[in-house]
Amino acid sequence: MNKLTLNTASAEATQAFGRYIGEALQIGDLVLLAGTLGAGKTTLTQGIAWGAGVTEYAHSPTFVLVHEYAGRIPIYHLDLYRFEGASAVDDIAEVEDLGIDEMMEAGACIVEWAERAAEIFTGDFLEISLIEGESLDDRIVTLTAHGIGFESLMAQLAQHQDIGEVATDD
Ligand code: ADP
Ligand code: MG
Repeated sequence: MNKLTLNTASAEATQAFGRYIGEALQIGDLVLLAGTLGAGKTTLTQGIAWGAGVTEYAHSPTFVLVHEYAGRIPIYHLDLYRFEGASAVDDIAEVEDLGIDEMMEAGACIVEWAERAAEIFTGDFLEISLIEGESLDDRIVTLTAHGIGFESLMAQLAQHQDIGEVATDD
């Protein structure tokens, strides 16, 4: 299974789904979050962090770029919002300087606005996009596995009955 789509109808439902991801996260895992401002990337990250055993409340690291949370494994929460995008060579160098490789040796990384430095992320990752749905609190959450490890993680996620109806590509 390479793609999984589900709908959440509240911030709490997005967090609850995130917990399942967090429970499955391992050292070296990279999760890239895409979606416009207010789509729910930070909300999902809160759930992922809780699932990974973090007891703090994850806030968007927009200005500091990285927050580290202690859980079952270290969770690094990054937000690349302030970078302009692929064309900005200086920005890419600055993102490289953050030392994401070192973070992934120590724990798992969750990156908001990763598309602004897409060329940095060459290895395996789990991509999650959030799109606003029909009603105010509806979100369409789509997971795409880049790498075999994330395909099995997604198959595991799809087993949870309480996440509602899911669409998969298999
Ligand atoms: P982002 O990090 O993508 O900019 P945030 O997670 O900071 O977005 O904000 C999402 C906002 O949308 C929060 O105020 C949250 O309560 C609200 N929200 C409403 N419905 C949902 C939902 N289904 N999933 C996630 N967030 C939701
Ligand atoms: Mg955010």
